[in-house]
Amino acid sequence: MASTSYPVSDRHRLSLGPIATPDRLLLGPGPSNAHPTVLQALSRTPIGHLDPLYVALMGEVQELLRYVWQTDNRLTLPMSGTGSAAMEATIANMVEPGDTVLVAVKGYFGLRLQDMAGRYRADVRTLEKPWGEAFSLEEIEAGLKQHRPKILAIVHAETSTGVCQPMEGIGDLCRQYDCLLLLDTVTSLGAVPLYLDDWKVDLAYSCSQKGLSCPPGLGPFSMGLRAEEKLNARSGKVPNWYLDVSLLNQYWGSDRVYHHTAPVNMNFGMREALRLIAEEGLENVWARHRRNAERLWAGLERLGLELHVPAHLRLPTLTTVRIPEGVDGKAFTLHLLNQHGIEVGGGLGALAGKVWRIGLMGYNSREENVDRLLNLLEQELPAFRVTAPAAAAAVA
Ligand SMILES: *Cc1c(COP(=O)(O)O)cnc(C)c1O
Repeated sequence: MASTSYPVSDRHRLSLGPIATPDRLLLGPGPSNAHPTVLQALSRTPIGHLDPLYVALMGEVQELLRYVWQTDNRLTLPMSGTGSAAMEATIANMVEPGDTVLVAVKGYFGLRLQDMAGRYRADVRTLEKPWGEAFSLEEIEAGLKQHRPKILAIVHAETSTGVCQPMEGIGDLCRQYDCLLLLDTVTSLGAVPLYLDDWKVDLAYSCSQKGLSCPPGLGPFSMGLRAEEKLNARSGKVPNWYLDVSLLNQYWGSDRVYHHTAPVNMNFGMREALRLIAEEGLENVWARHRRNAERLWAGLERLGLELHVPAHLRLPTLTTVRIPEGVDGKAFTLHLLNQHGIEVGGGLGALAGKVWRIGLMGYNSREENVDRLLNLLEQELPAFRVTAPAAAAAVA
């Protein structure tokens, strides 16, 4: 006998065809295009997250992450979540209420670190630099001396400004002032020289969708022994269950205790992305990113465009170009997207409306992409110079 039933509402029932997204070329601040074989890996049939085959794959992903980060850290694993989840994991695991955390802010992602540390009730202090500059060793040392923090947090590759923070010596200073070094490597991992152990970095995180040529969804995370000691000495539990590394390590370590269902297909993709980097060789990958970025910089300058960051601080993965006087920057990027299927980013925060952000990350760091974009800028940008009637007339 049928019991109570209710009429099914069709109010939210959409009638859709299968998904049909265009093939865009993603030359913005991320996500970047995934490598074709990574996409193949993602579409394989899932296997169980405790299947011995999957457990073997987890070990391979961890080992290859150690390679791309140049670290021996035991606690190296991909968090289930994007880069921000891995970022929050570093803060959630390390910060105890009242701990002094010094954040070196020179762009948007420094501000995010500051926000997160405050939410975990750190005593947050900041050092600030204008957006487009980097910190000197002297400035870092002065900050450590003044604030005596337990953790110094800094962004290696600031995607909002296109600045690469020089890292030589910062780790030594942190040891000297007995503080942990927390480094955002979201836009540098797998693309820009990065030596976690030589730089004495205690905590680092990244993402899957920028230098690693994988879609968004995983956040690589690494923690050294000094950070592990602080974790083990906590007086209370890590206040975030999902990101608690001591729990996660019972799954990623040898115990294989269920914590959450691993996004197995994302990890298939991550394995393939890291395998490709190992096959090419890390130094070759870094050199390719630098070569293509230099080609872009030279081409932009040839077109009379101004780069926001001085050459010695420029990030190969992300270039900030000043939007020329009289150009509607947003209209031009919409034109690139709608007419040519190319995504270029706009400015964030203090640089909103002032710069375009051009990404050359992972699989997208290729000569043909640089040349395609430069040609479009040369041929189609003049029409967007609203205050330069001569240039507009020439195009018309
Ligand atoms: C993209 C980015 C993040 C955030 O990563 P999501 O994957 O977007 O969560 C953090 N820091 C930097 C420097 C980034 O560029």
